Amino acid sequence: MTQAAPTRRAGRHLLQIPGPTNLPDRVLRAMDRPVIDHRGPAFRALTERLWPGLRRVFGCSGPVVIFPGSGSGAWEAALVNTMSPGDRMLMCETGHFAVQWARIAERLGLRPELLPGDWRHGADAEAIRARLSAPDGGGFRAVCAVHNETSTGCVSAIPEIRDAMDAAGHSALLMVDTISSLGSMPYDAEAWGVDVTVGGSQKGLMLPPGLSFNAVSAKALEAARHAALPRAYWDWDAVIEANEGGVFPYTPATNLLYGLAEALDMLAEEGLEAVFERHARHGAATRAAVAAWGLETQCADPAQASNSLTAVRMPEGHSADAFRALVLERFDMSLGNGLSKLADRVFRIGHLGDFNDLSLIAALAGVEMGLCEAGVPYGAGGLDAALDSLMRRAPSAPHAAPQTPATTPSMARTGQE
Ligand SMILES: *Cc1c(COP(=O)(O)O)cnc(C)c1O
Repeated sequence: MTQAAPTRRAGRHLLQIPGPTNLPDRVLRAMDRPVIDHRGPAFRALTERLWPGLRRVFGCSGPVVIFPGSGSGAWEAALVNTMSPGDRMLMCETGHFAVQWARIAERLGLRPELLPGDWRHGADAEAIRARLSAPDGGGFRAVCAVHNETSTGCVSAIPEIRDAMDAAGHSALLMVDTISSLGSMPYDAEAWGVDVTVGGSQKGLMLPPGLSFNAVSAKALEAARHAALPRAYWDWDAVIEANEGGVFPYTPATNLLYGLAEALDMLAEEGLEAVFERHARHGAATRAAVAAWGLETQCADPAQASNSLTAVRMPEGHSADAFRALVLERFDMSLGNGLSKLADRVFRIGHLGDFNDLSLIAALAGVEMGLCEAGVPYGAGGLDAALDSLMRRAPSAPHAAPQTPATTPSMARTGQE
């Protein structure tokens, strides 16, 4: 007698893609409630809860416009509210997401110019300064950068880009995509002089996909008054005006907003600095594992390495997608795929959102066992290296043991300090 294939897998699936990320139970429970009247008093009370936490996460004091939509929608919103047909914008080719944003600009009738990049580094601030200072550089209406390029795991130094624009004496708007860094890595729209910050719900904010954001500076609001691209659904003014009365101009994603309020509370309870340090520890431990495996990260400059994800280059002759398929089949873990020109060449480990030391170790164990089973050549000791890295850098959370870490057995073995 043949047996039917089992339809159940025991234990939790590990969602280790760099977004959407694993949902905390608290967020799930916060959303598990009846939909309310989005024009009634209870809804107004809900929106009032959102603004202080959102402003803290974005580092701004002006409006944060919330859209029911994916991050790509918030890209479009940033452009249609501030630009006019044919406007030129300078963008930095840091990877897949930067290129996608430029494509949207093109389709809207804008003229984006991509500063070429090798998809292994963040944006080059000096190249931006030089381009803005060139004879025809005065006409750019916006400089756009992706803070954390999720396809490569490289971070762009936004304050350096601001300095480059100031050094060139340029008046362009600075627009930054923080979809995979917001709530995971330090970000400060106002201190960094960013005019439009683009965010999404499904990565560091620990929510399902479906909400996106524009944090808008006074200068961007002023630009919106003169911008001539057609805009309707994405119009900031309509949303900001309705928000003043505690409502939205159209049906909002009510239950996602309950989740957002909860997620913002959770980030505040942990403390944003502690959240950033947690991600930094996990980024460092992941890179320690990758180095011990003898594999290369897609990010070529350790100073630019992302703390929310790590893109790992597959050794020549091995398929990253076959490896990911094996890890999914054997260990019930999803790893991120290589995007556009990195397809099948890299796999990406997401280490952002609702995540702790042991979830990281589980994810890295799945990668190490996967490498073994897939017959990919790798060095032993990746997990040990990650453990050493975690133990050397004591967590800063209030729950952390106060004493300085003792020398661990594995450190003694490797002789590391
Ligand atoms: C995920 C992501 C996007 C795309 O967001 P969608 O919600 O899929 O539209 C854009 N930019 C970056 C940096 C991202 O990580």
